[in-house]
Amino acid sequence: MSASPLIRGYEVVIGFETHAQLSTASKIFSGAATAFGAEPNTQACAVDLALPGTLPVMNRGAVARAIRLGLAVGSRIAEQSIFARKNYFYPDLPKGYQISQYEIPVVQGGSVSFVLDGQPRSVRLVRAHLEEDAGKSLHEDYHGQTGIDLNRAGTPLLEIVTEPDMRSSAEAVEYAKALHRLVVWLGICDGNMQEGSFRCDANVSVRRPGGPLGTRREIKNLNSFRFLQQAIDFEVQWQIDRLEDGLRIDQATVLFDPDTGETRAMRSKEDAQDYRYFPDPDLPPLVIGPDWVERERAAMPELPAAMATRFERDDGLPPHDAALMTQSLPFAAYYEAARDAGAPAKAVANWLMGEVAKRLNAAGSGIEACPVPPALLAALLKRVHDGTVSNNAARQVFEALWAGETGDVDAVIEAKGLKQMSDSGALEAIAAQVIAANPKSVEEFRAGKDKAFNALVGQVMKATQGKANPAQAGELLRKLLG
Ligand code: ADP
Ligand code: MG
Repeated sequence: MSASPLIRGYEVVIGFETHAQLSTASKIFSGAATAFGAEPNTQACAVDLALPGTLPVMNRGAVARAIRLGLAVGSRIAEQSIFARKNYFYPDLPKGYQISQYEIPVVQGGSVSFVLDGQPRSVRLVRAHLEEDAGKSLHEDYHGQTGIDLNRAGTPLLEIVTEPDMRSSAEAVEYAKALHRLVVWLGICDGNMQEGSFRCDANVSVRRPGGPLGTRREIKNLNSFRFLQQAIDFEVQWQIDRLEDGLRIDQATVLFDPDTGETRAMRSKEDAQDYRYFPDPDLPPLVIGPDWVERERAAMPELPAAMATRFERDDGLPPHDAALMTQSLPFAAYYEAARDAGAPAKAVANWLMGEVAKRLNAAGSGIEACPVPPALLAALLKRVHDGTVSNNAARQVFEALWAGETGDVDAVIEAKGLKQMSDSGALEAIAAQVIAANPKSVEEFRAGKDKAFNALVGQVMKATQGKANPAQAGELLRKLLG
């Protein structure tokens, strides 16, 4: 492992607790809906509020999703895990406790791998446990009052906890991105960070290299990769400033303010004992037999890392391209569909990373919204490959297809008159005319100037309105010039 980067002589130590909202239709212990954006307090039922006489019932779909995450990161799936009550008072938790897992979580160990500055890195997981979300305080729109929306109460969460393995904000961002890609890929979380479906708590401390771990402060609820990086960077400088001033760091929970770019203390950190955890008497142990684990394993998609390796091995893609082709399942599916329709794999990758990515970014949309289906892109790239059109002309065809031009690729090429000249007799005549009309360039070429030769090729391209194959034009010019 390479040495950690130091900041002002300090080593940064980061551990993450990530809350991934599991994409079940109903709550973790009740049948109430989890859909985002409903009118406040229309989606919380008596079980979510733990009204007297109600009993929670475990949602199998939430357990299945936890198992899949565990399998994807090489964890142990506990045959028996226990739900516990975490007791605390807060207005958005009127029942006075959160159902979580404490001593025995469902997912234990494992690791998340990613690439940082071209180097493979791996962050160990301590655990991932199932728990319910709380409600939400609404500070806006209530004429100076605070409202409580309990719709989110009982929404299933998987809290994924790492060892303090990360050594920079850049590494923390790459870890978070890798985990985000994985949960979305597995279909266990929609990954919508604005809606709070994927929230990261970053535990940050600094120490002298080789020294004992410093005291950590926990930055809560970071819901964008950019905020995550900014918050950690600010926090690290703040902690080092304090230590350099001879002050000590007190363990605390802090919030990041995106407007000021600063972190500020919210409360001093509670210890586990403050929560008076105890096994929830309403819920039996969660039992997961090996057959259930195997069913989930069989139903899982091929994982992104395995797929990238396959693209490198079978399609000859460079690792960088293979990583980009596996950025999401729909992206990988598009790549594979175009490749399977007969386009050269590397050309598909180049176009997806270039022309297609450029247009998708400009439109602010994902590959699912690409108006050119993979078969059509493949048909176009085949025409580049067999020399019918130049790459440049192909971009014009693609633009037309993107804009909704109908008909097949050949018809668009024909209609736009973009076919490359394949008649070498006609091209040779044009090349001869160009030579005759540009004595100065010919002279310079003979004197050994490559630039002059390129200028002659450019003249041929111009004379043919871009329809000549530049390589063929070059060959003919060389032949004519002796
Ligand atoms: P708690 O349950 O009180 O939040 P944990 O021991 O479970 O405490 O740790 C929570 C998170 O904090 C984990 O991700 C862990 O890796 C991280 N962590 C623990 N100690 C440190 C430290 N000194 N610096 C940075 N992160 C830490
Ligand atoms: Mg914690």
